[in-house]
Order: sequence, then structure tokens, then C-alpha cells
Amino acid sequence: METLTKSETLAMRKRHIGESCALFFKSDPLKIIRARGQYMYDEHDNQYLDCINNVCHVGHCHPYVVEAGAKQMQVLNTNSRFLHDNMVKLARRLTETLPDDLKVVYFTNSGSEANDLALRLAKHHTKHSDMIVLKGAYHGHVISLIDLSSYKLDDMKDGVHKAPSSVHMAPCPDTYRGKYRDDEHPGKDLGKMYADDVKEIIDSIHDKGNTVSGFMAESMQSCGGQIIYPDGYLEKVFKYVHQAGGINIMDEVQVGFGRVGSHFWSFQAQGVVPDIVTMGKPMGNGHPIAAVVTTKEIAASFAACGAEYFNTYGGNPVSCAIGLAVLDVIENEDLRGKAVQVGQYFLDKLNNMKKTYTLIGDIRGHGMFVGIDLVNDRKTREPATKAAEYAVSRLKEERILYSRDGPHMNVLKFKPPMCFTKDNVDFLCEKLEVIFDELKSGNLKSMCTPEKNTNNSNDILVDGGPPSKKVCTGLGTPVC
Ligand code: PMP
Repeated sequence: METLTKSETLAMRKRHIGESCALFFKSDPLKIIRARGQYMYDEHDNQYLDCINNVCHVGHCHPYVVEAGAKQMQVLNTNSRFLHDNMVKLARRLTETLPDDLKVVYFTNSGSEANDLALRLAKHHTKHSDMIVLKGAYHGHVISLIDLSSYKLDDMKDGVHKAPSSVHMAPCPDTYRGKYRDDEHPGKDLGKMYADDVKEIIDSIHDKGNTVSGFMAESMQSCGGQIIYPDGYLEKVFKYVHQAGGINIMDEVQVGFGRVGSHFWSFQAQGVVPDIVTMGKPMGNGHPIAAVVTTKEIAASFAACGAEYFNTYGGNPVSCAIGLAVLDVIENEDLRGKAVQVGQYFLDKLNNMKKTYTLIGDIRGHGMFVGIDLVNDRKTREPATKAAEYAVSRLKEERILYSRDGPHMNVLKFKPPMCFTKDNVDFLCEKLEVIFDELKSGNLKSMCTPEKNTNNSNDILVDGGPPSKKVCTGLGTPVC
């Protein structure tokens, strides 16, 4: 329900909400007042097709999930220092989706808290010092994770926060535009080449007399531009990290809960078993609940430190009722099966479009996780940042919510609610074709003057907020 006009909301936000807080379409923000399934509605009841909301995983305001939460709220909500069935039932259900060794669950309220706790577990278990992460990663907003998140860290301009010397960033295993490209190393084992870079980092840590506490990465790097790692990459990295006495942490905050369709967890697509898995966003369909799952051995090391772990809201009865309902919907509505079908349908259509539009450099996807890497030149793979900005702006005009990401902000990023349909794909592709035609002919519908920084950009920025050093180079809607 709208209780303020949009301009009143904007004015109050400006006065009372921190300037750094991220906003989609910052120069012309949307005011969304209700949502259902894969659709969101603004204050004039205009409908937008949501291609970006991996939080409202099973569909906005899914009635089954809403009812489960409301029912539990009428009976009890409390901190997690009392016995409650919902907490243990959700823990059991989650572990049933995971490899056998991952049996112990800690509930938190956000992905950041989950990843921060994972770092603590790693330190207590290994007693080691250094962490290895991937360039371009985002793992959360708390200080321990900003340390690991080059996605944010690279952009801090005041010099106050710098990556500590115990954090090491390995090249992102992006075979399209990373350190080792498929066209420059044809027939080579790129998974091994990227994994060997991690091995080199491990050796350099040891050379300095330091130790490896662990490796943390998303199972597929969404923040870095929808990157799907080459075969064998994680398996080899995991082996090197274990040999060094470290543990492997997979961040499934964006890509978990069946988004990839073929598997419940994205790391399973690489056939690996992590020591710790962190999860969040989709877990509560918009309600704040997240978790860390680990082995009995790692949990025992944490317990042995003697300090009690207490998280006031983590694992409360209402959050857990919602978490259980989300799992029910994924199963009852076969959302994984749908992700396979609809995701493949989208990929097939995109591959067809690629024959017409040289702007499309690379299409990568797995289920409902798809990236379209736009290029100015297919040979050099020069990122088409302006075109991506234009596309996202125009899609908004066509009432489709889309985002872009990657180090060059040229990757169109698809991660919709899992109830997205083939009809939705048809509508999206129809509009993408119109927009790509405009770009091809140079007959652009809307232009804006160049902006200095994506913070002012007119398109949707990504889950971690706008990555820094990504300069908005010009095209957007006329409101810029
Ligand atoms: N990990 C990843 C991969 C994320 O994308 C995010 C959020 N964008 C987080 C961790 C942090 O989650 P939260 O915002 O719930 O703290």
C-alpha cells in the first residue's frame, strides 16, 4: 500500500537513509508497491517482468510461503535459545539436500553473517592464517568480507580500508575474457591452468612462512559476470587447498536452492564436496534467513574453542517455518525441472539470436543462471559496456527489470524468480531483439549524457550494489 507520494518517499529517503545505500535505477528509481510471482508493480500499477530477483526465489509473495510465516507468527516467535521443532526440521531438510558429510547447520539472518561465520569456522578448525578468494568476488558487506571482496574493495577511494596481507586473490577462471582465454589456448585444460594459479598462491604463502586457512568462492561467480568455471577447476583447487591444510568454502548465496536446475547446489555441477557451504537470499523467499552448513569435525573444532555461538534471530521459529515452506514449494512445483526446461529454452533462443547479432559475444548459462556477454568486436572481445547500459535502460522502458554485471559491466545478467515461464522468455527475447536492432542500426531510442560513475547510473546494479571503478559511459534513459 502506498502511503506517501513517490516524491515524498524520495525526499524522505534523501534525508534519512544513508547516501551509500544502493538503489536500482538511481537516477530514476522505481517505487514498487506490490509483487506476485515473477511480476512487480509500481505505484501506478504498471507491471514489470522481474528478471533479476533471485531473492524471491519461488515467486514473489508465494501464498504457501506467506501462509506458513503468518501462521507461525500467530503462535510463537522467539530467539533460538529454546527447543523448537522448526529449527531442527529445517536443519535436517537442508542437510538432506547436501552431500553426506555436511551435517551441521548454523542459522543466521543474512549471507554476510553466514560467510563471516564460515571464516571463523575455518580459522578455528585449521588454526591457519591466510585466505584465498577469486578476483571479482563479492561475499558480503561486513568488514571481514569486504576484505575478501575485490568487487567492492577495489573501489574504495579514501584509502581507509585495504585488503589485508593475509588475503590472496586468484584470477577468476573466466575462459571467455579472463587470464586464460579459450581462443588463445585452444584444446588446453583451462581448469588446470586456473587451478595452478591457486597452487602458486599457496606456494607463495608457504614461502613467506604463513599458512592457508581456506579458499572461498561462489560455486559459479554471479557477481563477476555470470562465470561458469571450466571443468575440473574446483576439484583441482580443492585438492591443493586440502594438501595445504586449508578448507574449501562454497558461497551458494546467489546460486543455490536449485537455480541451476540440474542440481540443488551449484557446486554439485562440478562434482566437488566442500567443507563448508553458505546460503542465504533464496532461502526465505525475501524473508531474512541464511545458514552455514559444515562437517561434524569442523563444528567440533569450533565448539572446542569454548565460546558459545548465539545469534538472536538466527533460526527463529518464523524464519524456519518460511525456510521449510520454500523447500516444499521448490519440490512440489518441480522448480528445478522448470529451471532446466525454461533455462535451456532461453539459451536456445539466445544462441539463435547470436547468429543475427554480432553484439552477442558469449552466452553462458546453467538453468536460471544466464549471462549474455556483449562485445563490440567478437575477435578482440572488447566489452560493449555502453550497449549493455543501453539495453538495461531500454528494457526498463519495456517494463522488464534486468541487470548487468562483470568487471566491465557488459554482461546482461539473468537470475529471475524460478517461476519464470517460456512465455516470459518469448516476451523478453522479443524486446531484446528490438533493442539489439536499435543498437545495430544506431537508431537509438533514448540517449543520455555521459555520467562519471555507476552510482548515478540509470540501470539496475547488482546484488552487492554498484561495483566501483565501473564507469558509466553514457547511454541510458532520457532521465539521466
Ligand atoms: N555472497 C554473495 C555471492 C552475494 O551475492 C551476497 C549478496 N549480494 C552475499 C554473499 C551477502 O549476502 P547478504 O546481502 O544477505 O548479506
